[in-house]
Amino acid sequence: MKIHLYNSLNRKKEEFVPIKTGKVGLYSCGPTVYDHPHIGNLGAYIVWDVLKRFLISQGYRVKHVMNITDVGHLTSDADEGEDKLELASRRSGRSAWQIAEYFLKVFRNNINNLNIVEPDRFIRATETIKEQVHFIKILSDKGFLYKINDGLYFDTSKLPSYGRLANLQAVDLQAGARVEENKEKKNPSDFAVWKFSPEDKKRDMEWDSPWGVGFPGWHLECSVMSRMELGDTFDIHTGGEDHLSLHHPNEMAQSEAATGQLQANYWLHNAFIKYQGGKMSKSAGSFFTLENIKEKSYAPMAYRFLVLQNHYRSPLNFTWESLSAAQAGLKNIVREIAFYDKPKKASKDVLSEFYQAMADDLATPRALSFLQEVINSNLKSGDKLATIFKMDKVLGLDLENLRDKSQELPSEAHTLLKDRELARKNKDWTESDRLREKLTALGIDIYDTPKGQKAIWVRL
Ligand code: AMP
Ligand code: ZN
Repeated sequence: MKIHLYNSLNRKKEEFVPIKTGKVGLYSCGPTVYDHPHIGNLGAYIVWDVLKRFLISQGYRVKHVMNITDVGHLTSDADEGEDKLELASRRSGRSAWQIAEYFLKVFRNNINNLNIVEPDRFIRATETIKEQVHFIKILSDKGFLYKINDGLYFDTSKLPSYGRLANLQAVDLQAGARVEENKEKKNPSDFAVWKFSPEDKKRDMEWDSPWGVGFPGWHLECSVMSRMELGDTFDIHTGGEDHLSLHHPNEMAQSEAATGQLQANYWLHNAFIKYQGGKMSKSAGSFFTLENIKEKSYAPMAYRFLVLQNHYRSPLNFTWESLSAAQAGLKNIVREIAFYDKPKKASKDVLSEFYQAMADDLATPRALSFLQEVINSNLKSGDKLATIFKMDKVLGLDLENLRDKSQELPSEAHTLLKDRELARKNKDWTESDRLREKLTALGIDIYDTPKGQKAIWVRL
């Protein structure tokens, strides 16, 4: 099946052709671990998880690499301000290392809750300092760098292709608008590859280098790790749309300068998940975490379902009502499949339509409509279940597990069910209804079938 993906590099949907037949090198820019990830960040990783699962469903062997930014990401996103981890450390009284350790654990936990498959290689920026220093040497030898007071900078005017991903004007604006411009830079779009530690202060995270004690610039780790793990050019690079104007052009520029090759062939960007029409952002403090969702008794899987109801290139305005509707919708699916026979034969026709929707730039809302179509169809229930489980290998809603879980009842239900069976045998309908109400209060659904009563307890 031909797969088409929207490639930000050429601003159009393109047929996906991997470098090596049957294999895909996939790189996703990872989180900065200075705080809880918000559900916007996590939404992005749900999207890339579905991309990966879909490629695997089409027979590709995918190597997925993700960086963990635990140093060098400054509060301005450009090269000014304080390191986000050092700042969090100062505020909390814990070391930057402890902060990174803690929030990396939180991130892993969160993606696990959302049924996101962990990348094959998950690498912290601080684990590759040696390689990053080596990479800087290559850039320096090739004449792309210059030194100023606070660090070693990449001269973007030396690379004619710079800004190919965004338009250069936007990058210029960005550098100027966010922070007081660093007057020593040769061009506003130049960026640091190595920042020097402040003279009057010892940082938690700093290393010696041929240019002085300091730490790597934020963009460098992705160029270095992707090259280490996936080679000079790999297939797909992903990130949020915020990366289009700064982080990705800079990453791409460093890689191209060092290797002479295009870093990745397909550049995919997810639109933002918003709240009340505004940006959900960690630094602005306007965000929800997965813990906030759980505190309000919503399941992480309901959030995953909500994200998939939206196409990844359209912004999603998060509301509690929409999450509530998604939770109810997912419960309905589980309630439905709880009664199906064991999985038998998947329907090739519906599956092919489902895959076709996914192959059209990951049209998850359309793909989900085929799941509902299977439920409404007159296929045999075992065939329905086999088809749905195949779809779920891509969607990752964990339906097999949720279905199994729905069959386990709480202990107090067993006696109530036995009593109700007896009441029904004795045609004592009042008692039977009374017991049904008690069971319903426990969250149990009961169906009276020709084979007797059947009870399920749907939990996400
Ligand atoms: P960060 O931890 O800030 O480096 O962000 C991790 C990932 O989440 C990056 O790929 C961002 O582009 C992405 N991202 C940040 N905010 C949002 C949002 N509100 N909605 C969707 N993706 C986001
Ligand atoms: Zn990156």
